[in-house]
Amino acid sequence: MTTVPELFGSRVFDDRVMKARLSGNVYNSLKQTIEAGKKLDLSVANAVAAAMRDWAVENGATHFTHWFQPLTGITAEKHDSFISPAPDGRVIMEFSGKELIKGEPDASSFPSGGLRATFEARGYTAWDPTSYAFIKGKTLCIPTAFCSYGGEALDKKTPLLRSMEALNKQALRVLKLFGNEDVKRVTTSVGPEQEYFLVDRAMYEKRHDLIYTGRTLFGAKPPKGQELDDHYFGSIKPRVAAYMEELNEELWKLGILAKTEHNEVAPAQHELAPIYTTTNIACDHNQLTMEIMQKVAAKHGLVCLLHEKPFAGVNGSGKHNNWSISTDTGVNLLSPGDTPYENAQFLLFLVAVIQAVDEYQGLLRAAVATAGNDHRLGANEAPPAVISIFLGDELTAVLDAIEQAVPYSGAEKKKLKLGVAALPRFVRDTTDRNRTSPFAFTGNKFEFRMLGSNNSIACTNIMLNTAVAEILRRYADQLEEAADFDAALHDLIKETISAHKRIIFNGNGYDDAWIQEATEERGLLNLRTTPEAMGATLEPKNMELLASHKVLSETELRSRYEIQMENYCKTVRIEALTMRDMARKEILPAVESYVSTLAATTAAKKAADSALACGYETKLLKKLASLVDTIDGRTEALETALVKLETVNGITEEAFAIRDMILPKMNELREVCDEAETLTAANYWPFPTYGDLLFGVR
Ligand code: ADP
Ligand code: MG
Repeated sequence: MTTVPELFGSRVFDDRVMKARLSGNVYNSLKQTIEAGKKLDLSVANAVAAAMRDWAVENGATHFTHWFQPLTGITAEKHDSFISPAPDGRVIMEFSGKELIKGEPDASSFPSGGLRATFEARGYTAWDPTSYAFIKGKTLCIPTAFCSYGGEALDKKTPLLRSMEALNKQALRVLKLFGNEDVKRVTTSVGPEQEYFLVDRAMYEKRHDLIYTGRTLFGAKPPKGQELDDHYFGSIKPRVAAYMEELNEELWKLGILAKTEHNEVAPAQHELAPIYTTTNIACDHNQLTMEIMQKVAAKHGLVCLLHEKPFAGVNGSGKHNNWSISTDTGVNLLSPGDTPYENAQFLLFLVAVIQAVDEYQGLLRAAVATAGNDHRLGANEAPPAVISIFLGDELTAVLDAIEQAVPYSGAEKKKLKLGVAALPRFVRDTTDRNRTSPFAFTGNKFEFRMLGSNNSIACTNIMLNTAVAEILRRYADQLEEAADFDAALHDLIKETISAHKRIIFNGNGYDDAWIQEATEERGLLNLRTTPEAMGATLEPKNMELLASHKVLSETELRSRYEIQMENYCKTVRIEALTMRDMARKEILPAVESYVSTLAATTAAKKAADSALACGYETKLLKKLASLVDTIDGRTEALETALVKLETVNGITEEAFAIRDMILPKMNELREVCDEAETLTAANYWPFPTYGDLLFGVR
């Protein structure tokens, strides 16, 4: 039996392996590159490549790949084998520093949102030494960034790294003002909690909607859904437990800190949470986790559904982005401190996040905008589409006291004098939990809960890091000029609270009254669907933010807009076509076949005794015959709408047309098909039902 510590990281070229296999000089140079971003010279790269190759080959690898994250949202790899011909006709295993540092995948089939029209067609991948190489199957995977030859980012990693750098730069300026001379680097960390469904593979294969779209497009509500809440944290079924055990082992081998797992609210729904780590690595690990989840499921006769809303009427799956900022000296900047200065520093970072989220709500909402997530947000199961921040009662009271200039605790209610000493002292609040808030402070980190289970966490963190970097930049500009730092700091915190407290909301985010208050009284954005949300990315202030911190140029941002909108359109179109086919080729024939049985039975009964009323058959026949016509009519209506869509020009117009013309027609078609399901004999229904899927894994 291999123990977990032996297993953990056994497929990773991590620090331990580097130390053991690289010479002191090479190891130190590489460390400098990883930790301080120093440029790597080719001789070092060659030595690292040779050590990587030896290690990989010893561990059974035959190929290597530059592993990257194109804008499709999933990862891509192109495998090259290590073999190289030797003069004696045999082969040797080769891998050079050049091959490690740079690759040239044929990029022409990856979405570029128009970047390729203006820039060179080819793209190249560049090694990201801050994320360890690993072996997957028989392939050495080298995490890389993917760019065009003009330097435009064609992936999600490049802007993520840039946003981390932007935040580092501005946070260091602020920390200096507090006298933190020893801090060299500030990084953000993320722990993404991942929800998913497991369904039986044999049943899955009978459903074209699941196969083509990842979600069910039809399905009447089963007698039992999630109303009893008996699945949440319930005991795990043996088949699922076996799956989770193997999943953990596979993730541990890759150095992924899979930590907790439990059943979620909906039947067949589960969650996996890793221990948090540096954002860039957390992002790579989350992509790998999603991939391994699906691979391991296949081995257990299961399918892992990562769609945001695979079933109507039961909770969808999300991802929680737990996020914090910390220094290389080990201080979590979102954790309240012990001294007034530490507390003041904490409060400044806290209000920076509050201001960033308030000013750039649109970008955060756009970061999670997908066709699938539109079914989740605001459906009383996930946060609403309105972004607000939950702080908890204690911290809210602290901010109120600062704003009102009254003591936070203690009897005297006199006006406070300005300065750091006047900021209240308080301890960390860990009491309150609010599950309905999109953006919750949870003691020493913020938890952004709007992500769909499918989303890469990159987009969210790009926007979050950059928005906070921008606010810190403004703070640093202001405070560096201040004659009296303490007074300026106090005023800044106080003014920020006044200006941005509208985003703080500790109540029930599912409440309709809140949505009304948020939009009508507080002026918060309510971007309910992807086409609206994506519009926010092109607002001048948002473009300016990303460009000024060199995270995404206007061209890069516009290309991302195109890709995300295109993805929305394609996704819904595939769903609509799948519905049309399932209605025509499966549902209508099934209902017709049952109708003809009913008709035959009626005829036979009447032949035996013409006086028989056949009330049951006649009633059902009439209902089903009429439903058949309605299903046919609505299928045609959907088809007509799809044809009309062809005449719409422009990606923005198309996305809105899809939302307003296609989605309503899909809902109408589903409604009648689901009704037909409830009236048709079970053995006639052409595919597994909700009950089968949700309760089928035993
Ligand atoms: P929950 O009640 O939401 O399940 P947990 O305390 O279990 O909360 O944490 C959930 C996630 O938050 C885990 O992935 C955990 O590693 C991560 N996390 C904890 N502390 C931090 C932090 N300082 N920064 C980022 N993520 C963190
Ligand atoms: Mg959570």
